[in-house]
Amino acid sequence: MNEERAASGLTFVGTQCAICGPGTPAKELYPANFGIDDITPARFSARRLPDRVHYRMVRCSRCGLVRSDPVLDEATLSHLYAMSTFDYESETANLKATYGRYLAKLRRIGGRQESLLEVGCGDGFFLEHALQQGYTKVQGVEPSEAAIAGASPSVRDRIVCDVMRPGLVPEGEFDAVCLFQVFDHVPHPELVLEACRSALRPGGMILCLNHNVESVSAHVMGERSPIIDIEHTYLYSPTTMRRIFQAGGFTVREQGRVNNTYSISYVVHLTPMPAGAKALALGTLSRSRVGRCSLPVPLGNLYLIAERP
Ligand SMILES: [Zn+2]
Repeated sequence: MNEERAASGLTFVGTQCAICGPGTPAKELYPANFGIDDITPARFSARRLPDRVHYRMVRCSRCGLVRSDPVLDEATLSHLYAMSTFDYESETANLKATYGRYLAKLRRIGGRQESLLEVGCGDGFFLEHALQQGYTKVQGVEPSEAAIAGASPSVRDRIVCDVMRPGLVPEGEFDAVCLFQVFDHVPHPELVLEACRSALRPGGMILCLNHNVESVSAHVMGERSPIIDIEHTYLYSPTTMRRIFQAGGFTVREQGRVNNTYSISYVVHLTPMPAGAKALALGTLSRSRVGRCSLPVPLGNLYLIAERP
């Protein structure tokens, strides 16, 4: 990696456990397997074909939090996400169905629900869903300019082009904050949690849904799992999710496994198989009704709902 760094001019920085802090020992899970040609905006785009490219992965010896180490420096990462693209369109209905189920859970335990902030909202499809669910004030934060350009006019001017960080959103503005498949991408989750906590009014709720590094599929596939990916700086288990939210000053109210609603095409898209065979299968499915059929699958995600005290 050092030679690659010298040749490419890219800068890599060491990471630390976001729960235990600096100096905590960690054990290597997998060595890095990427080349410099892999560092492109396409690699950092939503819903690209999983291709098993990843940084060196380690696990904290104290708390078990899994992370990439080292990673690209933040300026490069921000640029890659700003230039990345967003291609959720064929799955939008299924994502609304999946995420909507967990937002409904938050509403059941969360009291007043009028305002909602979504971190990493892509083209804002879930902000539209929240408006339909009766939220009167919605706002999104999204680094990809292309994603925001594709947003519906009903929500486009409610999306701020930025990454979530302390000071971006006024204190105590929101009843609910949502992060869907975002938390494992951010380089400093503890700062994102601080910013989210500050954005919530006291008693407000945060909903976070992302991969579960201890799911059955992650265990079975190991390094071949689509979650072992250069886009993920941290990977959480139910235990490390709970611990990082508690460390961030939240009271965890509920957590569990996620059943995703997916089309058969998307399940094939995630399945490890040779690229040629996959392209052929996806092509066939895209021309048939079968590919658009949806089914609920426990594909190794977890959710957590926590309260700002
Ligand atoms: Zn740790």
